[in-house]
Amino acid sequence: MIENRQFYIDGAWVDPREGTDHHVIDPSTEDPCAVISLAGQADVDAAVAAAKDAFPAWMATPPEKRAEYVRKIYDVYKSKAEEMAQAISLEMGAPIDMARSQQTGAGIGHIKAFLETVKDFDFIEPLGPHAPNDRIVHEPIGVVAMITPWNWPMNQVTLKVIAGLLAGCTMVLKPSEESPLSALLFAQILHEAGLPKGVFNLVNGDGAGAGNALTGHRDVDMVSFTGSSRAGKIISKNAADTLKRVSLELGGKGANMIFADADDKAVKRGVLHCMNNTGQSCNAPTRMLVERSVYDQAVETAAEVASKVTVGPANQEGRHMGPVVNETQFNKIQDLIQKGIDEGARLVTGGTGRPDGLNRGFYVKPTVFADVTNDMTIAREEIFGPVLSIIPFETEEDGIRIANDTPYGLTNYVQTQDPDRLKRCALSLRSGMVEMNGQSRGMGSPFGGMKQSGNGREGGKWGLEDFLEVKAVSGWPDPA
Ligand code: NAD
Repeated sequence: MIENRQFYIDGAWVDPREGTDHHVIDPSTEDPCAVISLAGQADVDAAVAAAKDAFPAWMATPPEKRAEYVRKIYDVYKSKAEEMAQAISLEMGAPIDMARSQQTGAGIGHIKAFLETVKDFDFIEPLGPHAPNDRIVHEPIGVVAMITPWNWPMNQVTLKVIAGLLAGCTMVLKPSEESPLSALLFAQILHEAGLPKGVFNLVNGDGAGAGNALTGHRDVDMVSFTGSSRAGKIISKNAADTLKRVSLELGGKGANMIFADADDKAVKRGVLHCMNNTGQSCNAPTRMLVERSVYDQAVETAAEVASKVTVGPANQEGRHMGPVVNETQFNKIQDLIQKGIDEGARLVTGGTGRPDGLNRGFYVKPTVFADVTNDMTIAREEIFGPVLSIIPFETEEDGIRIANDTPYGLTNYVQTQDPDRLKRCALSLRSGMVEMNGQSRGMGSPFGGMKQSGNGREGGKWGLEDFLEVKAVSGWPDPA
């Protein structure tokens, strides 16, 4: 069993001042696989103090020099990619091949993309030709508390930490207590890359303890949070007393609109996307909205595709679906599947209970419901498991109304061959992202939501701007 109770504060690994032990559970076996420590107030205070002390020098470090450090981080991260994939796979149950390619790979992709973005980013830019002596200065906001979830650990950590570093912020990262192993390795990577002490600090902890201490801390200037809408609301309230900036990346209940003229892979693609990462993605297309004339065919295809998804332990190589992260999630998903049945949705594959042959581990059956109405619990709540709800619609207008009838607004999807309809849908869907015909968004595209999916944007120049203040300066001297 791995034992790592230390935190990374002020450039060194330190013992907790007031930590309590926490067991990390391997979701494939339900056995403990690691012991970490959950930080208390004194640990958080020490980490915030280190970040605060380091801020003036890091802010004054030229952006090119900050980018040099990030280039070193990129090299060290890549050299430890296999170790990273093993850590992620163990802690949160991603099948090892998927942990290598998508989970660890997301970190590599984001570091690279930010290094490209920062090359063209003007930290000091002119206001315009009408005001030749005005400058708009983009300067770092200060000490940032970064709180991340377990579902895409390195995706979330790199989107925050790398952007924050390049922006000139100093930070305290508190990863999810469910996925601390990848974050501990990430701290080692930053240490090895030679980042100046205090710029990056890590404490492990839970929401009620370290999370709460960070979001209410008077020396924290900003909270960058990714996680549930539930926690997002608590954090916003807790941060209000010190009026710190709060950037939120929250849950989703994405609609995938499938029109009668969609390409013939659209349904299959939608099902597999929903099941990817065992359904534990905020942008999962969990509501499949299908035009009535192709509805029956789509239901049949979806059931067939989902029933062929195999389930197995995270350490097994190959393309299969792993367990969900923990017992709480497992029970929540079971309850929601039962609720779908009780509220009258038609179960076409999957259901409650573990898949055949898997008696231990948090394994869920790939599940598809048809004849779902948008007021059913399974259409409204983020299930965060491999559960797809299929809803018929009559007209484009009807489909858009259903898609937008949700408290969330993260990613919606559209499948049609009609170019005018694509544009109409893209402009009418109330979400931070719209992905059409299976084309993923390009490098540097901002990730984030509307409504109760949050207010932050991560990635690209928008991801840098989240960590920057805008300062307006007049009387800037003419160039000599
Ligand atoms: P969670 O909200 O339970 O926890 C997320 C993080 O917040 C953890 O580090 C946790 O310890 C901490 N936390 C919990 N309560 C807190 C509190 N009161 N104060 C401070 N910190 C607190 O979420 P989770 O179960 O870890 O992650 C799943 C959720 O994350 C889903 O809702 C998913 O949609 C969302 N998510 C969103 C995005 C996005 O970019 N929009 C990306 C990934 C995941």
